[in-house]
Amino acid sequence: MESAEIVRRFLRFFEERGHTVVPSANLIAEDPTLLLVPAGMVPFKPYFLGQQKPPYTKAASAQKCVRTPDIDEVGKTTRHATFFQMLGNFSFGDYFKEQAIPYGWELLTRPESEGGFGIPESKLWVTVYGDDEKVIDTEARDIWHKKVGVPLDRIQRRGMVDNFWSMGVPGPCGPCSEIYFDRGPEYGREGGPNADENRYIELWNLVFMQYERGPGPGKEGYPILGELPAKNIDTGMGLERLAAVLQGVDNIYEIDTTYKILDRAAELTHTRYGRDARADVSLRVVADHVRSGVMLVNDGVMPGNEGRGYVLRRILRRAIRNLRLLGAGDDRYMHELTDTAIAALGEQYSELRTDAGRIHTVIDAEEASFLSTLRTGTAIFDAAAEETKRKGAKTLGGDQAFQLHDTYGFPIDLTLEMAAEQGLSVDEEGFRRLMAEQRQRAKADAAAKKSGNADITAYADILGSHGNSLFLGYDMVSAEAS
Ligand code: ATP
Ligand code: MG
Ligand code: MG
Ligand code: MG
Repeated sequence: MESAEIVRRFLRFFEERGHTVVPSANLIAEDPTLLLVPAGMVPFKPYFLGQQKPPYTKAASAQKCVRTPDIDEVGKTTRHATFFQMLGNFSFGDYFKEQAIPYGWELLTRPESEGGFGIPESKLWVTVYGDDEKVIDTEARDIWHKKVGVPLDRIQRRGMVDNFWSMGVPGPCGPCSEIYFDRGPEYGREGGPNADENRYIELWNLVFMQYERGPGPGKEGYPILGELPAKNIDTGMGLERLAAVLQGVDNIYEIDTTYKILDRAAELTHTRYGRDARADVSLRVVADHVRSGVMLVNDGVMPGNEGRGYVLRRILRRAIRNLRLLGAGDDRYMHELTDTAIAALGEQYSELRTDAGRIHTVIDAEEASFLSTLRTGTAIFDAAAEETKRKGAKTLGGDQAFQLHDTYGFPIDLTLEMAAEQGLSVDEEGFRRLMAEQRQRAKADAAAKKSGNADITAYADILGSHGNSLFLGYDMVSAEAS
């Protein structure tokens, strides 16, 4: 079943059950606490919080999502993309668990000939929230077992980290219950999702949105402020994961809309997919990142050095560099791959076709500028790595990483990745210190210019006391959610 058909079926199922179909919001989040939309519920957040009255009580959507924190997983796991689409049904104070659970099960297991996805019941496992046998969502467990008929040995308990959903920023939250698909013994250990998340792939998360979290550090640190005005439902199923299951392929990079890009990248670089594990990861990264790049540019993001612009830049540059790892040399392939991505996703997003000219202009320019950065910087990097190894050291100096950044425009994550490929680490703390010092110098210079006074001893004092300022650039640009 093609991706586009999966979306149609999902939305039709819920439309027939009284849900209003709401188009995907732009990837640029309106919510000021987020850079990019990481989940289908984001556009509905004000309704959950009771800040706005929803124009409907039940909705369904296929929301475009980007999860930057998952970027290092891409191509290595079978199931993490930077751009993906979340299929969701939502209830704003209308139905709750007793209805959301049977809906999810019915749609997945209903025969294809009757509008469902035809997954055999015996392949599905579920989890419910529970920190131990005493603190457990018995309501959800009873609905799964008594109402839906799932045997108790295929219902597992999961604690706060996995089965208590929150946005990663203040907002609505609640216990959740997930549906997993068993891909079979060739994919790993028996024993359900708690034993092996590669064999048992998480398809769908049903969140029982019932509480509100306030600000605080980290996921665990967010205090629960209290109950929301109503009990709500927020569900999210990864379209790409369901497509991988229904299309019978090994991973989400091999589904209809992504594999075409992967295949073209292999063709262009004369690489055979499935021969070499490292090249396979690169091909999957290229396929995923080109897809994300195209979708982000189409939604109005421009490459830049901070915020979402940096997310896009990093994604495009990783694609371009992985093409080098595949042997692209000086050849430019992003134009062709962008064309392939637009064609592959065009059925779902016709706006990609009308915007193709502009998308090309942005991506081509980024490729040209990054290739020239790479040309000069790579030689410097190689020399530094060589020198490090010759000394018998395992860590590239912070000063070297700083020079690569300052003089050759190498972002630190590029240096980190290239170093890791050579079995080296990087003195990140030293790098951060030098960056902070440079920032202080720049401030001091600017202030001195303003006052016409070149004495910067006062700023040296500030530097002395604030020298260890924390470098947050690469965490702050990502919209965190799990
Ligand atoms: P995982 O544990 O596999 O990382 P998650 O628990 O972080 O997934 P949720 O936040 O529950 O994911 O999101 C709801 C659904 O969205 C998931 O069940 C999955 O199908 C899909 N999904 C989440 N992250 C990704 C991703 N990076 N790429 C593709 N699909 C994803
Ligand atoms: Mg999970
Ligand atoms: Mg989940
Ligand atoms: Mg995750």
